[in-house]
Amino acid sequence: RSNAEKFEFQAEVSRLMDIIINSLYSNKDIFLRELISNASDALDKIRFLSLTNKEILGEGDNTKLEILIKLDKEKKILSIRDRGIGMTKEDLIKNLGTIAKSGTSAFVEKMQTGGDLNLIGQFGVGFYSVYLVADYVEVLSKHNDDIQYVWESKADGSFAISEDTWNEPLGRGTEIRLHLRDEAKEYLEEDKLKELVKKYSQFINFPIYLWASKEVDVEVLSDEDESTESSEEEESSETTSSEDEETEEEGADKKPKTKTVKETTYEWEVLNDMKAIWLRNPKEVTDEEYSKFYHTLAKDFGDEKPLAWSHFTAEGDVEFKALLFVPPKAPHDLYESYYNSNKSNLKLYVRRVFISDEFDELLPKYLSFLKGLVDSDTLPLNVSREMLQQHSSLKTIKKKLIRKALDMIRKIADEDPDEFSNKDKTDDEKSSENDEKKGQYAKFWNEFGKSIKLGIIEDATNRNRLAKLLRFESTKSEGKLASLDEYISRMKPAQKDIFYITGTSKEQLEKSPFLERLTKKNYEVIFFTDPVDEYLMQYLMDYEDKKFQNVSKEGLKLGKDSKLKDLKESFKELTDWWKNALSSENVDSVKISNRLDNTPCVVVTSKYGWSANMEKIMQLQTL
Ligand code: ADP
Ligand code: MG
Repeated sequence: RSNAEKFEFQAEVSRLMDIIINSLYSNKDIFLRELISNASDALDKIRFLSLTNKEILGEGDNTKLEILIKLDKEKKILSIRDRGIGMTKEDLIKNLGTIAKSGTSAFVEKMQTGGDLNLIGQFGVGFYSVYLVADYVEVLSKHNDDIQYVWESKADGSFAISEDTWNEPLGRGTEIRLHLRDEAKEYLEEDKLKELVKKYSQFINFPIYLWASKEVDVEVLSDEDESTESSEEEESSETTSSEDEETEEEGADKKPKTKTVKETTYEWEVLNDMKAIWLRNPKEVTDEEYSKFYHTLAKDFGDEKPLAWSHFTAEGDVEFKALLFVPPKAPHDLYESYYNSNKSNLKLYVRRVFISDEFDELLPKYLSFLKGLVDSDTLPLNVSREMLQQHSSLKTIKKKLIRKALDMIRKIADEDPDEFSNKDKTDDEKSSENDEKKGQYAKFWNEFGKSIKLGIIEDATNRNRLAKLLRFESTKSEGKLASLDEYISRMKPAQKDIFYITGTSKEQLEKSPFLERLTKKNYEVIFFTDPVDEYLMQYLMDYEDKKFQNVSKEGLKLGKDSKLKDLKESFKELTDWWKNALSSENVDSVKISNRLDNTPCVVVTSKYGWSANMEKIMQLQTL
């Protein structure tokens, strides 16, 4: 086209497109839900803007917030159109090709090591899945602030943008036209599209319409040669009709002749039911529906179900409904972006209108791995995001959400037959809890344990609740995970403190001289091997009235030892000499102790000093 401007795809995007276009991935269906999800995002955006400025929606069809799917069997084009916010020329250039998102290279990397293409939406590059089924794609878009443009690409490393002078005006919004490959002809079948929308996009909050064919009976004028046809008909009717009818027929005879034929007509058929799942009574929502809703909400189309969910209504001063999910897997960048992002994964709705998914006031950072939504009846609808962010009821909402979230997580453990808390249950009680719950808490811990630890560090109010959720290995855990309650249940009668040791691995710690005596005396010692554990233990001082004692630090008490006092006396000369020899720059004191068994001496950290492990961690950080 003469007015087309050409652009190169950013290198990483180009690589991604190559991977997609050459993919042997069999589930090509996913492109449709990605496009519908983008359309829905665009509709959410315009609806949000319209809350403070009605005019932005325009008039006529432009005010209809909907998604429209059309098929052109002859030209092999599938098009998906929305009346969302649309894209300006600059948006088209940036969003569809030149600015790579952080997820782009992460996804490319994943795909090169056999990752699942199904997860594309989570990496923020879902749009490019169109090239699973199309070899040429056009994107028509009209934003309120610009004229209509066409973006087009054959996925050959470049795309073109032209002022749209030949298509019908969209009014506002975006139309994606997929020129389907021969192998993808099935997406021209109406039934296929209906099935896909049912399967993947049932919970989209805007109506999704298909321009669907319908066989109808229509009365048409019989335009056949009237002189012969009609005279025959008249003759036959004369022979079979009664007198009365005959006179009527004669009267009707003056009307034009008609007949009934089958004809194909088209009309917009709505494919989803749009009933907000969170407004329904939890008793009437099936597990499968929750699962499906989670997939749509989280853009997580892996095969796994969420680990847990909580659906509740809060009443009182601040009223809201909420639905929270624990995903089956941690996202690729959960801890990578922990400190520099304020990404919340909760969507905020006010009276069913989507407001934002960038509200960091809803959940603390350490719970940012949860997915879900909050629909508030208390918050005002027609104010800016900034004003909402400061609304006093957000504090109450946040407090309730944390409570419910921690309850939900605790329930995973409570229902897991493998957990210590269930050890006294009869087999009957356990089997009534279905097999699916077995091992679920260990799974949760592997994916999100670090978040719980960060919570203990950051959330003083809920520290004890969070400590209950903590799991670890220990000298007695036999390769499984133990909890603090389990530890306490195994404590020796005279034992006052909870013992732990920190290091880089369990294998290394098992050889530590600090454990010699403790193990011999049958004390249990917790292994903390994650770097975050050092910080954790600076905040976790006690649990159920028991203090934590690092066994490599000063202050270890192993009950009364009557010999110790005498020994201290008789070795005083040696310890004094030694202290002098090392000088006070190097050691605080040299002491006789009962913590060792075979090893003659060991370096112990003072009560408030850094453990050797912590020193190592700090060194690494300053490198
Ligand atoms: P994501 O949806 O995760 O942001 P995508 O690759 O699906 O990633 O889409 C990339 C971007 O392109 C979107 O963030 C959005 O800015 C823009 N976009 C895609 N489809 C539409 C649409 N139908 N209307 C408006 N903008 C869109
Ligand atoms: Mg998307």
